[in-house]
Amino acid sequence: MEQVLPAFDKPKVELHIHLDASIKPETILYFANKRQIKLPANSREELLQHICCKKPGSLTEFLAKFNHYMPAIAGDREAVKRIAYEFLEMRAKEGVMYVEVRYSPHLLANSKVDPIPWGQKSGDLTPDEVVDLVNQGLREGERDFNIKARSILCCLRHMPSWSLEVVELCKKYHNDTVVAVDLAGDEALYSEAYPGHKEAYEEAVVCGLHRTVHAGEAGPASVVREAVEILKAERIGHGYHTIEDPVLYKELLEKNMHFELCPWSSYLTGACGSDFTKHPTLQFKKDKANYSFSTDSPLLFDNTLETDYSIAKKYMSFTEEEFMQVNINAAQSSFLPEKEKKELLNKLFQAYEMIPSSEF
Ligand SMILES: [Zn+2]
Repeated sequence: MEQVLPAFDKPKVELHIHLDASIKPETILYFANKRQIKLPANSREELLQHICCKKPGSLTEFLAKFNHYMPAIAGDREAVKRIAYEFLEMRAKEGVMYVEVRYSPHLLANSKVDPIPWGQKSGDLTPDEVVDLVNQGLREGERDFNIKARSILCCLRHMPSWSLEVVELCKKYHNDTVVAVDLAGDEALYSEAYPGHKEAYEEAVVCGLHRTVHAGEAGPASVVREAVEILKAERIGHGYHTIEDPVLYKELLEKNMHFELCPWSSYLTGACGSDFTKHPTLQFKKDKANYSFSTDSPLLFDNTLETDYSIAKKYMSFTEEEFMQVNINAAQSSFLPEKEKKELLNKLFQAYEMIPSSEF
């Protein structure tokens, strides 16, 4: 049989990936069993049938997937720490050199969170302790798997009452793995109508916390404009629909805004069409925009970075040089402090056998 070579077999930087959608199925089954929590499945294969998206679906269908497995993980200290640790094991296996992993601390808690998610009983794991446990898991994973990781805490569009606390946690754990705040969820819920998000992002600006926002994924370009102008986003999660507003798109190109693109995810969420030869990535590529590739939610989309890179290679004619540039872009737009960013860039240049330009 002919051996298929990987699309890009060099170290990578991944900026858009959700911890709670990057869990080993075995770990879900283990904790469900241990905690006597009923799941819709008893084997890895059965579980994946319930969780994985096979064809484009609605956001509601997508979000319903979390109900199948989050009860096994949320509210359990050992589980929360372990998913962070195993997350880095999986990323390292895919050749990731640096990753920024995002999650909502509230969705893994069962105390001091209102409402308590996933139908859990009230317990004693607070969002604050969730962050501490994830940090422990990430630090141990960094040590054991030769990978660097930082985290981003997510606000959720439908839960504006949690947002200020998310930013308080970002402040408390700033650079103790946490580097930024994100806003995730249904883009139909404009943040302007929910002052909690705006206040939280204003506080993030005041405190020098970095900011990314999910925008222009399924939603229109106006959500991207709002993310940039109201929430002062420094990076855009997805942002495919930005190009439908040429004025905004030009503005963001001039600003060198970074777009966290997730090609395979964009197909399964219905954010973009199924024809990858017409994917917005091609427009970004043509215009030499600042973007990178991520898997987003590998447990739900059954993808690896190889899936996304091979789509870019096969349908968008990405070359080895272009993939290297994509990863250099990611490193430059990472939320690391300047000194660590330079170190990361130098490591990439070494791995790519490139001479760093005098810019760095
Ligand atoms: Zn996302």
